[in-house]
Order: sequence, then structure tokens, then C-alpha cells
Amino acid sequence: MVEPLIITLDGPAGSGKSTVSRRLAEQLGLEFLDTGAMYRGIAAACLDLGIDSADTQAVAELAGHCRIEFNWQAEPPNLLINGRDVTDRLRDADVSAAVSDVAAIGAVRDVLVQEQRRIGTLHPRLVTEGRDQGSVVFPGAQVKFFLDADPAVRARRRADQIRQSGRDADEAEILRKILTRDERDASRKDGPLIKPDDAEVVDTSDLTLDQVLALLEQRVRERVGAALESAP
Ligand code: C5P
Repeated sequence: MVEPLIITLDGPAGSGKSTVSRRLAEQLGLEFLDTGAMYRGIAAACLDLGIDSADTQAVAELAGHCRIEFNWQAEPPNLLINGRDVTDRLRDADVSAAVSDVAAIGAVRDVLVQEQRRIGTLHPRLVTEGRDQGSVVFPGAQVKFFLDADPAVRARRRADQIRQSGRDADEAEILRKILTRDERDASRKDGPLIKPDDAEVVDTSDLTLDQVLALLEQRVRERVGAALESAP
């Protein structure tokens, strides 16, 4: 029997969660779950089917009928919706603009929270990242982090990422979108972005990726070193 070990990383857009979680999982020999990808996948499916993301009922119905799967053989895992690989679509601007509307719908969250817990049962040694992983989905997780950073720093990081992929980036516009998304994520009724009481807050504004990673790895080893040793 594999000993479960769940580590949650929550925080706002651009706090560095995605890259840090993936690399932390790699270094600790755990699997990695990107729950934002699941919300983005539903948003992409809506857009591609011509469903308005503000049409709560239609989006909820779609989410209830979608088969959402990860291909765990890929690194990081690819996302498939009804058998179609949508990974390349997830970071498109229209999906980013629609996703927090979709994520505010209670029925969508119910479907995805249930799916995330199912994944946690099938992949019990997991680093999972999102907005509600430590608060709602895995309240009993062994280690919880909440990553934050100054909004201007978060906007700069996003802009750098976009520029690295060869596209132009308007940092002021990115900052505006980040603040809108934060506001929507923090104010929604179901699964809002909050810091769980038992999470360690890490402000990444003045830290490099490697520094954040080193800090988190050290904390995990201090707190659950024995459980890491028992890796299969
Ligand atoms: O982390 P990422 O930027 O990919 O998340 C995209 C969006 O998905 C967030 O802005 C949020 O609206 C939603 N989300 C969520 N709960 C999660 C993960 C993501 O509501 N656990």
C-alpha cells in the first residue's frame, strides 16, 4: 500500500505556482496536478462549441458531460477533453479571458473538485496546484503552501513568459487582466482564492524560481521527510 502524500500550492495568477509545483514534484519524485488546466479545458471546450461562458446553465451542462482526463505518460501530463488533446489551447488569450467566469460556476466546481479528489485517490503522491487545493479539495493535505507576489511582479513574469515564446506583450494590459482575474477568483462564492489557515505563505516577489524551489523543498523535507523516503 502506497503511503499518500499530498502537497498543495495555492495562490493568484503569476505567483510562480505552476513552474514551482512541477519542478517540486519532479525533485521529490511525486506526480503533479495542474487544476487550472482543468478549468481552462472547460473554458476552451465552451469557446470551441460556441457556448457563451456567461451562460451558467449551458456551461454547467457541458461540464457535466465532459470526460476530463490527463495523459499521465506525458511530462507534464496532457489534458484531454472527450478524448481530444486540448493542451495547446489552454494558454490562448480567449481561454484566459473566459476561465474565471467558468470557474465561478458552482456546478462546474462540483464536477472538477470531485474529479480532482478522484485523481488524488488514483495518484496519492501528488503536488497539486490551484486556488482551492488546500482549502476545499484536499483539506487534509500533509503540506500546504500559499504562494503570493506583488501584482506588478506577477505581470512582469507573465510578460516575460510571453516574450520568450516570441510574441509581443503589453505589461500594463497584463497587469489589468491579472487584477481582474484575482478579484473574480477571490470574490466568488464557491472555492474562492483564500489562504488556508494551516498553509505557509511564501512571498515570491523578490525570490528567483530556484530560491522558491529550494525553500519549498527544504520545508517539505523538514515536515514529511520520512514519508518521502517511503516512496515506492
Ligand atoms: O492557474 P491558472 O492560471 O491556470 O488558473 C486559471 C483559472 O482557473 C484561475 O484564474 C481560476 O479562475 C481557475 N482556477 C480555480 N480553481 C483552481 C484552479 C484554477 O478556480 N483550483
